[in-house]
Parts: sequence; structure tokens; C-alpha cells
Amino acid sequence: MDPFIAAAHEQAVTSLEEGGFPVGSVIVRDGQVIGAGFNRYTQTGDPTTHAEMEAIRDAAQGADDGHVLDQLVGATCYTTMMPCEMCAGAIIRFGLAAVVVAEVASYQAADTRSFLEERGIEVEIRDEEACKATVESYYAEHPQARGAGRPSDYRWPRLPL
Ligand SMILES: [Zn+2]
Repeated sequence: MDPFIAAAHEQAVTSLEEGGFPVGSVIVRDGQVIGAGFNRYTQTGDPTTHAEMEAIRDAAQGADDGHVLDQLVGATCYTTMMPCEMCAGAIIRFGLAAVVVAEVASYQAADTRSFLEERGIEVEIRDEEACKATVESYYAEHPQARGAGRPSDYRWPRLPL
């Protein structure tokens, strides 16, 4: 497995171990992980704590004063699931260059691929079995969550994101 996908997956597993929905992300710049995070919505009750947002926040906190945005411009977001509209918006807003998605088979919060690509962000989608298996273990514990929150059945309240 790509080491950065593996790092994102490790974040997803941490969320799963905490009882959360397993999504993990890392921000990579110049071949180094500069930020990491996982979905903490279940853990915190804060619906903005998606993996990509957490990873972006973590990367920004590691920046020198006044260079928060420089840290993110041109970086790549490796994430275990397709970013939702909120996270895609942050990826665009902070000038990231690319998004690498581990898999889109188990769950897609939104189809943001064209939204990202139309704004010049490269999107690469992989098919990582280990990442799918981690989401499957979440569904095994929370069968009601399977398929919830997809764009076609967007209703409030929706689970698990
Ligand atoms: Zn999101």
C-alpha cells in the first residue's frame, strides 16, 4: 500500500478504535506528512470534525507564524474516502494541488470529483481493500449506518456523518 494511504488508513483505524466512523486523512508536502486527522464527529458531536478538516487544521498548526497558508498551498490530501462538499471546499480554499482517495466503494459522502477537478485539483481514486475492510468492520457494529448520508437520501438527522 502507498505509505501515505497507509498513514491515512492508520488514522481511520484510530477513529474506529474510539467508536467513531473510520475516515482518516493526511496532508503531504514535499514527500512528508505535515498533518493528520480522523473523523471525530461521533466522538465530539462536532459535525465539522471530518478527517480532511482535522488534517488541514493539524498541518496549519505545524506552520511557522504567518506561513499557515504556505504550508497548504500545493500540498496533497490523502484520504480514505471521497471528500464531502465541506472538505472539498477547504481543499480548494487553501490551495491544495491534489487529492488521493483510497476507495469510493464503501461510502461516498458526496460526489465531489468534478467539483474539485473543475478547480484544477488533481483527483486520483484507488481501490484499497484494507480501507474497505475497515469501513466494513464499522458497518458490522453499526448496521443502520450502511448507506446513510449518501446524497440521494440526505435528510436530517442523517447518520453517521
Ligand atoms: Zn468532509
